[in-house]
Amino acid sequence: MNEQVQSIGVIGSGTMGNGIAQVAAMAGCGVILVDIDEVRLKTAKENIQSNLEKGVSRGKVAAETVAPTMARISLSTTVQALSDVDLVVEAVPESLALKQRIFRQLNEVTKPSAILASNTSSLPITEIASVVTDPTRVIGMHFFNPVHINKLLEVVTHESTSDQTLTRVHAFATRIGKSAITVKDSPGFASSRLGIALGMEAIRMVEEGVASAQDIDTAMTLGYRHPMGPLKLTDLVGLDVRMNIAEHLAKTLGNPAFEPPELLKEMVKAGKLGQKSGQGFYDWDKK
Ligand code: NAD
Repeated sequence: MNEQVQSIGVIGSGTMGNGIAQVAAMAGCGVILVDIDEVRLKTAKENIQSNLEKGVSRGKVAAETVAPTMARISLSTTVQALSDVDLVVEAVPESLALKQRIFRQLNEVTKPSAILASNTSSLPITEIASVVTDPTRVIGMHFFNPVHINKLLEVVTHESTSDQTLTRVHAFATRIGKSAITVKDSPGFASSRLGIALGMEAIRMVEEGVASAQDIDTAMTLGYRHPMGPLKLTDLVGLDVRMNIAEHLAKTLGNPAFEPPELLKEMVKAGKLGQKSGQGFYDWDKK
């Protein structure tokens, strides 16, 4: 039962799903990528091919591995296709009702030894696991975007996750070249909780006129050697996205440090969402 994961199913072939499929196939696993949308499935395979080719041109991927990697990935529009895989990673949109519906289906169709993982960035794993007969096999596997480049895997356990499930997921993480951290199921896990705390405080500092956005970011990049400052990161992620997470954390943790500052609310209301809208803490139109 402690055997290595050889085959995986990935549900949802969007931003995260296609990256997860890519890294697993590169590591030699058979991958079945499932989506309700056939066009998305086709696009995902094209994206993976293009990512691999870019990797070859940068000298990061051996040219002769591209075809075998692609051959390991098959596509399906039905969860029934996952009856024999060792691990399923769900990466559908962030809705508890949708994820629970998928896990109910997985409960029916997968083999009892299969690990069932969710890539949720904020939903409680405990509630996703509650719809599965054997919750010991349910776990969070929070990958980071872009999956084929970012090394971190945040593994999230809930009260019933078995040691065996955790051990197998850590072994799989090593196999696909990720550094895994283990976090108990709690709001924001480790990464979002710390990242949002820093982001909200940085915005409060801009609001109070403590320093400019650029100088606050420089304090972190030079002083603390962060690769990017918290305000630039907020611009890249999207001010609306970060505000939603902050509201969720303020509510679930009951900690006012996570309350979105007025400045953030005003900027979101004005459509200043960061890089995607051209304006945020930085002027992206100029860049
Ligand atoms: P996305 O919107 O890019 O992709 C979601 C995919 O799921 C789409 O292709 C959609 O067609 C498919 N889908 C929807 N309903 C489905 C169903 N019933 N069955 C099968 N497929 C279905 O989303 P994403 O950005 O890849 O995010 C997926 C998950 O990963 C979310 O839980 C998100 O919170 C989490 N996450 C996202 C990021 C990120 O940076 N985008 C980072 C970490 C975690």
